[in-house]
Amino acid sequence: MLRIDQLSYWEKKSYFEQIDFLVIGAGIVGLSTTIYLRERYKNAKIVIIERGYLPTGASTKNAGFACFGSPTELYDDLQTIPEDKVWETVELRFRGLQRLFSLIPKELIQYQECGSWDLITDETEKLDPNFIRYINENTYKITGHKEVYTEESESINRFGFNGFYTAYKNRLEGSLHTNLLINQLYKRVISDDIHVLFGINADSINYDSRNTSIQTSFGEINAGKVLICTNGFANQFLEDDEVEPARAQVLITKPIANINFEGTFHIDKGYTYFRNIDNRILLGGGRNLNFSEERSNEFKNTLQIQSYLMNLLNEKLIPHEEIAVDYFWSGIMGIGKVKKPIIKKVNNNVYCGVRMGGMGVAIGSEVGYILANQV
Ligand SMILES: Cc1cc2nc3c(=O)[nH]c(=O)nc-3n(C[C@H](O)[C@H](O)[C@H](O)COP(=O)(O)OP(=O)(O)OC[C@H]3O[C@@H](n4cnc5c(N)ncnc54)[C@H](O)[C@@H]3O)c2cc1C
Repeated sequence: MLRIDQLSYWEKKSYFEQIDFLVIGAGIVGLSTTIYLRERYKNAKIVIIERGYLPTGASTKNAGFACFGSPTELYDDLQTIPEDKVWETVELRFRGLQRLFSLIPKELIQYQECGSWDLITDETEKLDPNFIRYINENTYKITGHKEVYTEESESINRFGFNGFYTAYKNRLEGSLHTNLLINQLYKRVISDDIHVLFGINADSINYDSRNTSIQTSFGEINAGKVLICTNGFANQFLEDDEVEPARAQVLITKPIANINFEGTFHIDKGYTYFRNIDNRILLGGGRNLNFSEERSNEFKNTLQIQSYLMNLLNEKLIPHEEIAVDYFWSGIMGIGKVKKPIIKKVNNNVYCGVRMGGMGVAIGSEVGYILANQV
């Protein structure tokens, strides 16, 4: 493999010398960060290094839900997280979606405000109407929209589901095309004269008062400022193990002739989710069935979660047909004790924007905006 010190004059000068900002990671956050850096620093040299031949974390593997909180997820969060923090995160998610749409027009990423449904399995999980009133009041303060959440029990029959008791609709949530999103960000980055170098792994970052050097798989790179956007893989650069990797597994069915529903759906506090895409069903989740095994940064599908998803598909979502699966895959998220991203200065020249949880589609571009403005 050709190391950086063996490159030509042209190559070194264009890509590796006098870098003002080096961003590690080409997911939603890394790409968005460089776009906002460019808005502020018109003449800066900005380079992204990405270890994979494609972004290799979550941004090209996710479900494409543009969501800010299902009722059972909010209820669950409020049991363990202080109330003001829960609503701060909802606000960040909602604001993040507006930021995303100001960066990329909705039609370019096939955004559809299709609504979402939180499916409740049995009567004991039904939420108190006062709780729905309470989340509507708080959501109104954030979104300016009244009655965002409503109970819609008849949708269970209308959609042809089996084994659910009732459903709560969120009329403001939607879906988008995951890869169009990354493609649009990538196109913008290239047109902003930012270099994206795929296949370079950052091994370590060394810092002294004059210089920041990054040891990579191809040799050393020096940069003025370094921004870590490696999400679930960020611990190697941070001191306190603030980010845990969390694997999320997904399947997509073969095309199905008549799907009765259109929208985005959450089950079990958002741990399981499904939607339709191109006459198929994308179904993912189940990490809560085995938290310890899924606390992993290894891309892999496990029998336990595959069978859980297959059973759900065949028994509850499309109960009267045997549905075949076309693709299984997994992605790695970054989570932590607090359901909030870490956007901070690590030292004078190093910054990070990581730990997006299952919310990076919604908050990724806002995190990039905040991070670029912190530098
Ligand atoms: C299956 C799945 C479904 C999801 N569904 C949704 C959803 O519907 N809605 C939603 O809002 N969110 C969802 N998420 C979460 C969302 O995808 C993430 O929060 C978001 O993509 C994180 O973006 P990021 O840029 O921070 O991280 P990533 O996309 O993980 O990007 C980090 C990049 O850093 C690179 N990298 C890591 N270490 C190094 C290194 N040492 N050197 C160089 N490069 C490195 C990685 O290869 C990677 O490309 C889902 C996630 C998964 C896995």
